[in-house]
Amino acid sequence: YNHQLQRTEKMQIISELAASIAHEVRNPLQVTRGFLQLLSGKSVEHDKSYFAMAIQELDRASGIITDFLTFAKPELDTRIALNLQHELAQIETMMTPLVLLNNGELEVHVPEPLIILGNSSKFKQALINIIKNSIESIREEGHITINAWAEEGTAVIRIADNGEGMEPEQLEKLGEPYFSTKTKGTGLGLMVTFRIIEVMEGTLKFHSEKGKGTEAIVRFPLVSNTSSKKSAVVPQ
Ligand code: ADP
Ligand code: MG
Repeated sequence: YNHQLQRTEKMQIISELAASIAHEVRNPLQVTRGFLQLLSGKSVEHDKSYFAMAIQELDRASGIITDFLTFAKPELDTRIALNLQHELAQIETMMTPLVLLNNGELEVHVPEPLIILGNSSKFKQALINIIKNSIESIREEGHITINAWAEEGTAVIRIADNGEGMEPEQLEKLGEPYFSTKTKGTGLGLMVTFRIIEVMEGTLKFHSEKGKGTEAIVRFPLVSNTSSKKSAVVPQ
């Protein structure tokens, strides 16, 4: 009896994991599809960088599968210094085609270098899940703005959209597995995003108003260098 129960639990875990992997693989594949759609149009000027980006996205897809197979031990990840200026510029390049296909605009402002510790691929995945939700919330004249700045030893990233917004009951459920209001949604995106940000010692908060839009606030500990990290005193 006990043995049977364990087996059922294992099967459930495996199927949930498989669903998560499928969902996460869909994001880079959709981005790639966006690039290919643009390529099949008329422009030839940027072909080279779009093709390189498409290949990079496919590589990222297999990287995400690897990430998920080690999902049980996320704390063992090697964490390297990431410059948010650089990471968010790459995210802007990756997401712009998808935003344009949805008749939206994407603006990214990172006025100074901001160094945090983490895994570049997972960081991008976490942010892209948030941005994709913004894109999917867009009605006409969609506008998505990403700002990042330093605040009291913390790097703050704000992702704001003027999309459909959320009711308070929706806001409470964000990050719950399988919570989705979309016909094609899986409700796994934000669950994974919260997990990645948690492992990177960051936080994620949402503010939203139905009919007006949504803002996501992501915070990570800022590391300019090791000595300043140790001696940093937060002025109040
Ligand atoms: P999915 O996108 O597959 O539905 P997510 O975990 O990414 O799953 O998001 C869960 C739900 O949260 C969405 O279905 C949507 O109802 C809501 N949501 C998240 N971000 C936004 C946003 N920027 N604007 C409006 N609703 C959002
Ligand atoms: Mg989503």
